[in-house]
Formats: sequence, structure tokens, C-alpha cells
Amino acid sequence: MIELTKRERDMMFAVNTHTSSPFPARLSEIAKKVHLKPPTVIEILRRLELKGLIIREKGMIRLTDIGKKKCDSLVRSHRILETLFVESGVDIQEACSAVSSFDYLVQTDAAEKISKLIGKPEKCPHGYPIKYG
Ligand SMILES: [Zn+2]
Repeated sequence: MIELTKRERDMMFAVNTHTSSPFPARLSEIAKKVHLKPPTVIEILRRLELKGLIIREKGMIRLTDIGKKKCDSLVRSHRILETLFVESGVDIQEACSAVSSFDYLVQTDAAEKISKLIGKPEKCPHGYPIKYG
């Protein structure tokens, strides 16, 4: 399991949301998304590159295959935990931000167990699909 810091996790989400666009992410766009200065972003991206999760080439940033897998599992854990919170009565926005503060620390199989407990939801409270591996 590749461990991440909170900032690395946020960076992975920022790079990931960009992959639906036909163009790879640029540093300036990522910096805007995570509300950090470019030098800080470069430092975090450098660490993610060392972990084999992203590739930087000609100013473009994209996820590696390992990075994509890691993102899929991060997004799945986020959505499962968020669903648990909302089903427990927590407001959606509050659930989303609370879960964002620890979802990256939850092991994939723990998230899968929680998912089973709440009936393997197919969508998160925002309506996004929860894809199982
Ligand atoms: Zn969310």
C-alpha cells in the first residue's frame, strides 16, 4: 500500500478530476485547484512522481497506471465513507469535508467491509457512481 500525506491525497484528487478532460493537467490549473503556490505544488508532485503515481512531461501532469488504481481506490473509499456519514444523518457537505480529512488513511479492504455493511451502495450522496474493483 502506497501511503500518502493529506496534501498528496488532495493533489491526487486534483490530477484525477482532470483526467476526464482530453488534455493532461497543467501545473497552473492544479495549483488553482488545490489553493497552493506553484513551488509547493511542484514539491508535492515531485514526491508523487517518486512514488510512481504521476508522470510529469513538458509541463503536463498525468497519472501512471499505478496512480490511476490508487485514485480509483481513494475515490471509492471517499464515496463509501461519505455514504455511511450521510446515512447516519450527517449533512452532505459536512460529510464530504470530514471524510476528505481521513479517507486516504482507510485501507481499501476496510472500506469494502463498510460498503458491505451499508448494502454496497452504487452511488455516493452527490450522485457519483461507486465503482467496485
Ligand atoms: Zn465528497
